[in-house]
Amino acid sequence: MNWVDDAGKEGSSLSIPVTALPGVGKTRAALLDKLKIRSVEDLLGLYPHRYEDRSVIIPINEMTMHMGENVSIVAAVMEPPKMRRIYGGRTVTTALVGDKSGMMTVTFFNNPYVKDKLQEGKIFNFYGKPDPKMLLNMISPQVEELKPGMEPGIYPIYPLTAGLNQPQLRRWVKAAFEKAEEMRDPLPEKLREKYQLAGLREALEAVHFPKTTRDVVFGRRRLIFEELLYFQLGLGLYSGREKDRNHFPVGAQGQDFLRLQPFKPTESQVRAVAEILADMQGDFAMNRLLQGDVGSGKTYVAGEAAFAALSAGYQVAIMAPTEILARQHAEYFRPLFEKLGYSTGLLVGSMTQKEKKEAYAALECGEIRLVVGTHALLQEKVQFKELALVIADEQHRFGVRQRAMLAAKGKKPHVLVMSATPIPRTMALMVWGDLDLSVLNTLPAGRKEIKTYLVGNDYQPRLESFMQRQIEEGGQVYIVCPLVEENEETDLKSAEALFKELQEKFGSAADMIHGKMKPAMKDAAMARFVAGETKILISTTVIEVGINVPAATLMVLMNAERFGLSQLHQLRGRVGRGDKQSYCVLVSDHKGEKTRERLEFFCSTTDGFAISEKDLELRGPGDFFGNMQHGLPKMQIADVATDMELLTLSNRCAKRLLQFDPALEADYNQGILQKVQALFESEDTIFN
Ligand code: ADP
Ligand code: MG
Repeated sequence: MNWVDDAGKEGSSLSIPVTALPGVGKTRAALLDKLKIRSVEDLLGLYPHRYEDRSVIIPINEMTMHMGENVSIVAAVMEPPKMRRIYGGRTVTTALVGDKSGMMTVTFFNNPYVKDKLQEGKIFNFYGKPDPKMLLNMISPQVEELKPGMEPGIYPIYPLTAGLNQPQLRRWVKAAFEKAEEMRDPLPEKLREKYQLAGLREALEAVHFPKTTRDVVFGRRRLIFEELLYFQLGLGLYSGREKDRNHFPVGAQGQDFLRLQPFKPTESQVRAVAEILADMQGDFAMNRLLQGDVGSGKTYVAGEAAFAALSAGYQVAIMAPTEILARQHAEYFRPLFEKLGYSTGLLVGSMTQKEKKEAYAALECGEIRLVVGTHALLQEKVQFKELALVIADEQHRFGVRQRAMLAAKGKKPHVLVMSATPIPRTMALMVWGDLDLSVLNTLPAGRKEIKTYLVGNDYQPRLESFMQRQIEEGGQVYIVCPLVEENEETDLKSAEALFKELQEKFGSAADMIHGKMKPAMKDAAMARFVAGETKILISTTVIEVGINVPAATLMVLMNAERFGLSQLHQLRGRVGRGDKQSYCVLVSDHKGEKTRERLEFFCSTTDGFAISEKDLELRGPGDFFGNMQHGLPKMQIADVATDMELLTLSNRCAKRLLQFDPALEADYNQGILQKVQALFESEDTIFN
């Protein structure tokens, strides 16, 4: 985060490297670097993720009433601490301390310094849990000397990395705060007054060195508001919320596309298509989100939208987040639209220069009517003759700016974005701006509920016979091995070991995709699986979202404990796409109670919305949300799910600012503009 516009420039005190702070040498600087902290400014932007309130002091004789909780005790050292050696060369230091109500001991292991620190007669604040095994004892409490006039306060707890501790960070943040002289507040004073926000310096002080819990609330309020404001201004600037005139009206829809489908559309598909057509026939350009659980049939709806634009004589671009998905869509749409007389094309990164050039030319002269592609579509060279409709699939994988870039290829085309993630509407609005919403809430008829089981690793022989049976009956099997060791080499090895075993049993019917393969190789392996040439596909990285292989009937998830609920749901959605009974097997030896509970819950339901809500509940909104929306800047302090009041206020503020100064060009908005740009800067890099 950048605080002020001259941050980063030579000579600014905010850009002073952390190594200039007392106690930060090369080693510690390297540890801080892991937290992405390199400068004074970065340190000030490291917000505590929680606080310890040590201001509520408990008398020693009431300590036993707080078993299992952290308690704060203020006591004087009664006699010099004693240190003794125990087995293994370890040391134990104990001290007797007392307050008005009584006395207790404090015990420390392997902490020789504490002996010198706890001088007889001095007063300290001890913060920790009462020892459950020994009455009136505390093991390794946090210790803070209270000089005359001092009281225990509120202690910030910072995100840490191994090798660093809280007192160090507190010291360094303090030093950074003192070093940071010039700190220009990007929010103009008038605005702060209007929304009752603290000044920047004031807010930082309150958040890092609070005296009371009120300070924390006060400081955080300003910082959260600020972050949400930049976020929403960014959405406003980059995603074009204004309703644009409809430059590409379409006529009434024929049945031709529908007739080519092997199925009858579901009620919600029919409704979504009607909503889309109404938009495209109306006065304003469409800006719509199509939300539907995995397997609900969003692709068909997209096809109807495309058909409407094509039959009105316009061009259509469909953007998918990966090559595999782009190819899959291209293969689905090509035969359908060619039958209807519209030529289609593909544009992905792995095509040769020659192929790309041909595609560019064909798009520019309008020879290709519908193109499917990846972010390769965003290239400058890509020009359209008359782009009327942009469809973004699995939209959460795209940044707001990328969507805007594609839309900018045409003259305010219709935009349809599709997502499998059922997130609460308030959150959807916040992230996707003023989109209209269509929901597919029914699955195609005839779908059988996917049966889901949780098994241990000892189940493998039986699992193999089960796979055998599925294959004999014409099914196909996915096996996903997640990152286990946070180490690609080892993970790859364990997946490869499994692959070898399965090859022995199943021969060339087993195939594998892993993260280190070239995209073309991955595509080829995927294509073999789609074509049914291979029957078992092991993948080390998570299988692409949106992959559609209707013959697949079994999804095996190794180390299932590694996946969050929503991810499990996405993965399970790869099977159960045909009319055969499908299965999902979670393999996990994990014994943790919470984990078992999560996995068992997952086995008990296939309702995407219920799973999404449970996920939200288990993970907490920040984490949940971060996982949903790859393409958005990461919030440092705000939480769009819980900071509702500030979300509303900052939303109003953002609207007002943009109303008076749509491009944030005014002098008084320059500080703000730079922050917005900085926040959204990293967004274009998600595909690298
Ligand atoms: P998603 O919403 O996850 O993108 P898809 O569009 O890939 O789902 O559809 C999943 C599968 O369901 C595809 O094989 C598709 O042909 C099929 N399908 C879609 N709509 C229907 C329907 N109304 N009846 C039967 N099958 C359908
Ligand atoms: Mg899809």
